[in-house]
Amino acid sequence: MIKGRLIKGIGGFYYVDAAGEIFECKARGIFRQMKVTPLVGDYVEISILDQENKKGVLEKILERKTELIRPTVANVDQAVIVFAVTQPEPNLLLLDRFLILAEKEELDIVICLNKTDLVEEDQHFKKILDIYHTTGYRILLTNYKNEDSIVQLKEVLTNKTNVFAGPSGVGKSTLLNKIHPGLKLETGVISKKTSRGKHTTRHAELISIGNNSWVVDTPGFSSLSIDFMEAEELPHFFPEFSPYLEECRFSSCRHIDEPKCGIKEALKTGSISEERYNNYLQFIEEIRSSRRF
Ligand code: GDP
Repeated sequence: MIKGRLIKGIGGFYYVDAAGEIFECKARGIFRQMKVTPLVGDYVEISILDQENKKGVLEKILERKTELIRPTVANVDQAVIVFAVTQPEPNLLLLDRFLILAEKEELDIVICLNKTDLVEEDQHFKKILDIYHTTGYRILLTNYKNEDSIVQLKEVLTNKTNVFAGPSGVGKSTLLNKIHPGLKLETGVISKKTSRGKHTTRHAELISIGNNSWVVDTPGFSSLSIDFMEAEELPHFFPEFSPYLEECRFSSCRHIDEPKCGIKEALKTGSISEERYNNYLQFIEEIRSSRRF
């Protein structure tokens, strides 16, 4: 048996990348009997039936570390959250929503601010840098015309399985095409609700980009709802809150209007940004109102 990575599943066939060779595999019946569905991203073991025609049998699924739901991909390590510095103008409430969803999945997180070529001065996005420096997330500045920025992005993806996420039109497909020119994703197409747009691929595929690095070809987090979360877990998805949570007098502190709240103290000193805190309050309200009937 040989080890590999399941990169694509179509019509009952599973395509497994084993050291760069792609084998078309059927799964053993045992998977169906045990109601186990192999997922794109699974690390697997296969036996080879026909080396010349690259046919095999999927014998075993190795333990899954994580399981992303939309798109369904196993063993994703990192989310690259892409926003444009302009066109479209960044919406930080939306950025925080992506960050929270990625935190919930326990992914490593990188923020990629793209289209920096469209602004004359860094001043335009300085405010965003100031706000997000408090989070500790790595922030990359990219534009598809700047090769150095693409090299930096590739470095960040190394040795990981990555999913790109972010609103439509920010340049995700353009960046993925730059990283892996063979990919040829369609860019600049606005998907309409009535017709099937470009990001409506039903099954995600995993693309090997070398150096033990992988990218999912479909943007992550196609549902942006957060109301399946509990309000109590939300503070833990704001990494800059964590050093101050222990300073609250009440262990049940919601960091809204309680006395002696560590978060509100950190707000005063600027260790937590007001913008992030206000978005936190909005998300709390959103979760709460979803529970009201
Ligand atoms: P996606 O919806 O996030 O996949 O965005 P696309 O990759 O389709 O890009 C949307 C539009 O922005 C396209 O017209 C791209 O050519 C353009 N675009 C993407 N990245 C950049 C960039 O770094 N600079 C500039 N000026 N335009 C970009």
